Parts: sequence; structure tokens; C-alpha cells
Amino acid sequence: MKETLLEVIPQALIKEKIQELAETIEGDFPEGPLTFIGTLKGAFIFLADLVRAIKRKEVEVDFVRVKSYGYSDTSKGEVTITKDVELKLEGKNVILVEDIVDTGLTLAFLIKHISLHNPKTIKTCALIDKRERRKVEVNLDYVGFTLERGFLVGYGLDYGEKYRHLSSIYEVIKSE
Ligand code: 5GP
Repeated sequence: MKETLLEVIPQALIKEKIQELAETIEGDFPEGPLTFIGTLKGAFIFLADLVRAIKRKEVEVDFVRVKSYGYSDTSKGEVTITKDVELKLEGKNVILVEDIVDTGLTLAFLIKHISLHNPKTIKTCALIDKRERRKVEVNLDYVGFTLERGFLVGYGLDYGEKYRHLSSIYEVIKSE
């Protein structure tokens, strides 16, 4: 099977969108500390660029890593934590940063999990909201791009651990 990459979101557009997202976040939280939590590994580049666009001194960064099982239509899907948050989140303004929201199961699980730490607020931020396979409705406060479908790579997103390092986002097209 041959894989071809079709560019769907160029680097310049991602850069522009991240600036917009950061400005919206700063507008919602004009002052005080912000705690950004990224989901590994996919969100590592997005989170790195997003926090560098935030213009204040008090920014904290942490990561969670989850493992997902069962995305077939017949299964309910199950998410478990393989690396938990290490910062204290109680009373903090937390922004949960996801690369892609697809079925919504990961983010729904993480919102619940992070709420147990009693933050002051939890906002959700996704670079890509991919609508077609959504199984649970999750509230997305900040969204970069909305797409219907497609398997995407680049800018942190992988296909069998390949392509994370690419600066733009591509759709993987398979052919014989
Ligand atoms: P969900 O729980 O919303 O179905 O899945 C979210 C996770 O699935 C994302 O954080 C990402 O790791 C993975 N995922 C979903 N769609 C894609 C995609 O198009 N490309 C890649 N590389 N990963 C995806």
C-alpha cells in the first residue's frame, strides 16, 4: 500500500490560527496564571507554539498521556491514563489542549479526570475538530480548524510514529 501526503493545512495558516487562539484565550483570561495541559504525544508541537503566543509571565505547562481502545462502531471505546498530570491544579484556570477531537471519547474522559483535581475553570482547546466520527458531544471552547473527515498527520500527528515532525498538516491518501 502506497501512502501519499496531501497538504490540507499549510504551516502559515496554522501559525495565523494559533495567534488568533492565543488572543482569544488572553481575552477570556485577561490576567493571572494559566495552566496548559497537553495530551501526549500528538499535541506537543501545538502546545509548544500556543504557549509561546501567550503574552504573560505566569504560564504553567504539563502533559497527560492516554491510551485509547476500541474505536470500532460496535465498541464503546475505553480510555486509560498512562501518564498523569503532575502539577497541582486546584483553584487554577486550566486549558486542556488536544491535537484532534475525533470520537470525543478522549477529551470527555480527560475533562472528567481533570475536574477531579478541582481546578477553578477548565477550558478545552483543540487544533482540529473532526466531526464525522463524533460519539460523545464535548464542549470545545477554542478550535483551530473544523474538518469532516480524513486521517491527518504532521504538526505532532503521526501515522505509526511517522510524520510528527512535519510543519504542515497532511491527509494520508492510500493507494495500491
Ligand atoms: P478521540 O478520542 O476524540 O476519538 O481521539 C482523539 C485522538 O485520536 C487524538 O488525540 C489523536 O491522537 C487520535 N486521532 C484522531 N484522529 C486522528 C487523525 O486524523 N490523525 C492522527 N494522527 N491521530 C488521530
